[in-house]
Amino acid sequence: MMNPNAAPNSLENPVADTMANRIAAIRQRIDHACARVGRNPAEVVLLPVSKTFDESAIREAVGLGFHRFGENRTQEIAQKTPVLLDCAIEWVVIGQLQTNKAKEVAKLASELQSLDRLELAEALERRLQLEGRSIDVLVQVKTSPEESKAGLDPAHLQDFLQQLAQFQTLKVKGLMTMAELTPDQTAVRACFTKLRMLRDQAAQEAPAGIELARLSMGMSGDFELAIEEGSTEVRIGSAIFGSRTKPI
Ligand SMILES: *Cc1c(COP(=O)(O)O)cnc(C)c1O
Repeated sequence: MMNPNAAPNSLENPVADTMANRIAAIRQRIDHACARVGRNPAEVVLLPVSKTFDESAIREAVGLGFHRFGENRTQEIAQKTPVLLDCAIEWVVIGQLQTNKAKEVAKLASELQSLDRLELAEALERRLQLEGRSIDVLVQVKTSPEESKAGLDPAHLQDFLQQLAQFQTLKVKGLMTMAELTPDQTAVRACFTKLRMLRDQAAQEAPAGIELARLSMGMSGDFELAIEEGSTEVRIGSAIFGSRTKPI
């Protein structure tokens, strides 16, 4: 039976372009992608990526139930932290990181998803010990053939995980990747498949204390493919907040 109180959803009355509706649409697409491959949508975390967006946009998302936000610059986290203290936000660093930014990460971030080299791990361990804290980390792996893409060479993953096992302040929880930037869906999917297979392989010989349950993969343009290939966390910026006008 039709619900007489339901708002008509037609061309005369389109869904309003609000953040709440954009997020609802993303969740529906996550559900559908999960259904296609028999996964439970509860296994897929939605991480809003707030880089370049201001305090009010973040507050709106907090009001919709989010408290973890992805950012790719420590400078931006340092600016946003004091004005959003009341929101108890957990900042997740997702961008390529210079080693000299380890101090800011140790002070401000709850998690780093772009750990890609030993030098950075060593700097973080030192700074985190000074702060008396530990953080969750994901190892960013290069799955794309593009020269410019950041991440660890997959051939070095097993050795790197062995090395990370010695750092008490870095809690390894999984892997992260960015797919090739191309309209070729087959090539994009191949990046996600590769990360899952690398994880499955690494998990067989993972040292004690190293967890690899999480796979952070998928952004606004490709998250459905990533979910079909096993993503447990999609990092979504523009599909939630709108297109970025400021340079990243
Ligand atoms: C900006 C960014 C995202 C989000 O990108 P959108 O296309 O806006 O969803 C995800 N992951 C990383 C590493 C990013 O830098």
